[in-house]
Amino acid sequence: MMKNRLLFLGPPGAGKGTQASLICKEKGLLHLSTGDLLREEVSLGTQLGKEAELIMNKGELVSDQIVLSIVEKKLSKSSQGWLLDGFPRNLMQVELLEKLLKDIHQPIQTVLLIEIDDETLTHRMLSRGRKDDKEDVIRNRLKVYRDKTSPLVNHYMDLGILKSINGCGNIEDVNNRIKEALN
Ligand code: AMP
Repeated sequence: MMKNRLLFLGPPGAGKGTQASLICKEKGLLHLSTGDLLREEVSLGTQLGKEAELIMNKGELVSDQIVLSIVEKKLSKSSQGWLLDGFPRNLMQVELLEKLLKDIHQPIQTVLLIEIDDETLTHRMLSRGRKDDKEDVIRNRLKVYRDKTSPLVNHYMDLGILKSINGCGNIEDVNNRIKEALN
């Protein structure tokens, strides 16, 4: 039986968003991407969006409370299961999320790490052309990932729920590897 409470972990440009969308469509899960939700706030021009935009354009992390409030609203509404993409991104967010999930009795079942080398990541991001996909910002996002997010790998490994797959290659190949890992 496929798990229905998932977390996708991996550096920016690893293909988390693309792969998360595919898996969610196939399995009917709620796709919760904090990056997408923040970009939505930015395009709506909300106060939250205005504050977030300045930080996102530098490739830094938006405040833990802001992202938590966004996730909290959505998670409590989902009954089918969910896939977290881009959250949590530091150990404080891990703690906040664990408390939230404990309260709603919905622990994470599997954390999937998408692994890929820096050169491929940079290349993919540059060809994507998002506003925060400029070379200096990309460099900073990779540094932020290394410093703040990569410690999550050991955390979830220690909990015994981490699986990793190779994120190189085309979308379909990676999708197949993910399904194999999740089944
Ligand atoms: P992403 O689409 O996941 O690459 O996220 C784009 C940007 O949104 C990041 O570089 C951060 O500035 C911000 N962001 C997304 N998710 C988070 C999060 N969980 N915590 C803090 N900032 C985030």
